[in-house]
Amino acid sequence: MVRKKKEYTPRDIGQHKLRPESLMMGYGYRPEWSEGAIKCPIFQTSTFAFRSAEEGKAFFELAYGLREKAPGESLGLIYSRLNNPDLEILEDRLTLWDEAEAAAVCTSGMAAIATVAFTFLRPGDVLLHSEPLYGGTEHLFTQVLPQFGIDVVNFPAGPAGCEAAEEALSDKSVADRVGMIFIETPANPTNDLVDIAHCADLAKRCCSKRKPVVAVDNTFLGPLFQHPLKFGADLAIYSATKFIGGHSDLIAGAVLGSEELIAKVLETRTFLGTASGPWTGWLILRSLETLKLRMTSQMKNARYVADFLADHPKVDKVNYLGHLTEDDPQFELYRRQCVAPGAMVAFEVHGGEAEAFRFLNALKLVHLAVSLGGTESLAEHPATMTHSDIPAADQPRMGITPALVRISIGVEHYEDVIADLDQALAAV
Ligand SMILES: *Cc1c(COP(=O)(O)O)cnc(C)c1O
Repeated sequence: MVRKKKEYTPRDIGQHKLRPESLMMGYGYRPEWSEGAIKCPIFQTSTFAFRSAEEGKAFFELAYGLREKAPGESLGLIYSRLNNPDLEILEDRLTLWDEAEAAAVCTSGMAAIATVAFTFLRPGDVLLHSEPLYGGTEHLFTQVLPQFGIDVVNFPAGPAGCEAAEEALSDKSVADRVGMIFIETPANPTNDLVDIAHCADLAKRCCSKRKPVVAVDNTFLGPLFQHPLKFGADLAIYSATKFIGGHSDLIAGAVLGSEELIAKVLETRTFLGTASGPWTGWLILRSLETLKLRMTSQMKNARYVADFLADHPKVDKVNYLGHLTEDDPQFELYRRQCVAPGAMVAFEVHGGEAEAFRFLNALKLVHLAVSLGGTESLAEHPATMTHSDIPAADQPRMGITPALVRISIGVEHYEDVIADLDQALAAV
């Protein structure tokens, strides 16, 4: 099978531009490449035979950056740590939702984030990030990267974020060393927002020596409901384990951006060995066919669930983007930056950890598990589970209280999910 970019499934019919959901079943692949198979085969192979020694030499020259690509030339297949047809087709398909030029798929969301960090940060650099972050990212940034000489500075997600980020960059010794601005929006688990366009502007305006890369972890809303690259971000990052994979049966990550930046990420991916495998790639290709169906259904269910929780006497507070009202300081940003409120709801049970645990232990349909974005609803306790790495003294400042429960809403019938939450709240 030789994939030729020019011969892909067309992206439009005459003047009519095809939408991503229509291209998810076949873009980047043609049945005639593989015996007419309507679906792309799984290329479960570690290595690829060269047709000649000259071809092998030419492929390696590109892979190791020994010469520039000739016009229209793409990297040939060498070895599955560098590239594999299932991954390449998946990467092409993933670019469509975010209208990115290129993508790199990694073994996990953390592998994607670590690969990006090792691509764009060097000893002496500052990493400026929003907080809270996903627990694993927080650990990588605050515990691991400092061991490589990287200084980490943070600012809060939510209404105070813009001013705090600006303030951090008003210190010239920080501004001159920023190698990357990394934000997670909506923030996990609070749904607090960070203004992507403002961060992109700060990167241009405040960092005089070089423009830092602006990377956005878009796991919570994307790729359907938020498109960071349109707001000036350089990279959109996903834990594909979540909505993109969508069935709680695989671990993967992805980075999207310009050809130029993704080429750098791919080089790091090759040498850190963080490329995903063909089987996972194939599973995600299958997942992408129903991405819009799943995310739309989950988003609709989440609204019913959030409305139910907001009216419940044993619930003190609901963090749900669909409940932001015009008088909320984040409302304008939400309307500008997000397409829909997504399927993540966090709420405070009346009481504290004991009450939250009683609720979680009483669930019958909704599973008590970390992770999110799958077809089944999942509930967890951020303070002692996903975000337990954040010192207890720092958690409340980020909105992570002992009473907080996070729920990822699945595709079940919403009345069944609500019935389960109702009986579990009765146990509180
Ligand atoms: C899960 C998650 C990650 C990490 O992804 P893995 O696939 O588990 O490595 C990063 N960011 C966010 C927001 C997540 O929810």
